[in-house]
Amino acid sequence: MTSSRYKLRIWGARGTGPTPAADHLVYGGNTSCVAVELDGGEHVILDCGSGLVALGTALAERKDAAPGHLHLFISHYHFDHIEGLPRFLPLYDPNSKITIYGADTNGRSVREILESYICPPYFPVSLASVPSRIDYRNVEASASYAIGDVTVRSLPVNHPDGCRSFRLDHGKRSIVYATDHEHGDEPIDRELFDFVRGADYLIYDATYQPAEYHELRRGWGHSTWYAAVQLAVAAGVGTLVLFHHHPEHTDDELTAVLEVARNEFPSTEIAREGLELDL
Ligand SMILES: [Zn+2]
Ligand SMILES: [Zn+2]
Repeated sequence: MTSSRYKLRIWGARGTGPTPAADHLVYGGNTSCVAVELDGGEHVILDCGSGLVALGTALAERKDAAPGHLHLFISHYHFDHIEGLPRFLPLYDPNSKITIYGADTNGRSVREILESYICPPYFPVSLASVPSRIDYRNVEASASYAIGDVTVRSLPVNHPDGCRSFRLDHGKRSIVYATDHEHGDEPIDRELFDFVRGADYLIYDATYQPAEYHELRRGWGHSTWYAAVQLAVAAGVGTLVLFHHHPEHTDDELTAVLEVARNEFPSTEIAREGLELDL
């Protein structure tokens, strides 16, 4: 069966760290995680921030469904992109089949990095001893994977310690997930432009207001809603989705950012937990 209409759901849209504050509930305080379920029980999950915990619970509660194959793609290993993994219930289910994709970084494989993070004394359980079946893949710079009828491709972006952007293509539909990227490195920006070109959705790092970025945060590896709009317009993107919200930005501030961004590019959305995008 082809051309089914899949929904990519946002489970966490916050950057840097979880923010369970009363004035962060509209867009949510959980860190980066987006996921889509494909036909045949395959799941493509991008990043394992704290939003992954609720996804894992939702999967564990579906007693009726056959155990699927969970493909976890990790953009990079900063805490806000892996901190949901220790509490991801499918790890503890012997029927789970999990593949974790991440780039070798600082001379260590994805497996070495995650097994040295999820173990005592940081967490009471060792990732190396969980009962689910896990295998690991190193994500080369321009890797491409066929998962069900979706293709997942990767592209390195500009971030301290490295980071991968991912593009999902399903028939003629496409979504690019490009977070933890700082604009301004011309060769990387050019490659990202080609990677993003014509996508139906661009989920993009909009951590900073332009003034915050220019005054204080150059070189920290993040971007602005304004750079997001410029890329979306130039690359002919269908809809821009502002993502990786700054931990101090309240719901009111994010709503104001959305309004300003829409003045520049009307087809702009802002990521919130529960938002679904057609793939
Ligand atoms: Zn991040
Ligand atoms: Zn990061």
